[in-house]
Amino acid sequence: MTELWIALTDIPAEGRDFSFTDQSLWTGPMAEFHVPGKIVKPFSARMRIVPQDKGFLVTGDFSGSVRLPCVRCAEEFEQPVSGGFEAFEEPAGETGADDLEDAGRVRLVKGAPQFDAAGFLWEQFLLAMPENPLCVEDCKGLCPQCGVNRNKELCACVENKGDPRLAVLRNLKLH
Ligand SMILES: [Zn+2]
Ligand SMILES: [Zn+2]
Repeated sequence: MTELWIALTDIPAEGRDFSFTDQSLWTGPMAEFHVPGKIVKPFSARMRIVPQDKGFLVTGDFSGSVRLPCVRCAEEFEQPVSGGFEAFEEPAGETGADDLEDAGRVRLVKGAPQFDAAGFLWEQFLLAMPENPLCVEDCKGLCPQCGVNRNKELCACVENKGDPRLAVLRNLKLH
């Protein structure tokens, strides 16, 4: 995973703006965690970090788009992925590399806080990704019987299933 830690010690009281366009921030974890999709519109993120009493306020947004297969019809389509964020981050304490997972997004290195910008942006990406990506909201999917893409053609199976007269015939056969 691409690492990007922002030193928080020298951020002025009014805050500081950051922007991210390095695609490896997204392509790195996508490959590592086997998230399907290829970036078609490059990702970019803006982030503002403002020191607070006991932590840091992190606000901003990001956007881009990926090409990935629809979960219903398996056709590839372009899925925009974007979102805004507003999070309060505070140092979890002095940590070693082993317990980073529990330590949150701010670590202390010799008492100096650093923010895990790469991990944070990846988390935002995952939150914005639809759980079941669909090419169109009402994608008709593949016919479970003959396998045709129902968005593109109608097959006989669909019509038979909906015909009540045929259902009666099927019942008759059972007896
Ligand atoms: Zn589809
Ligand atoms: Zn069919």
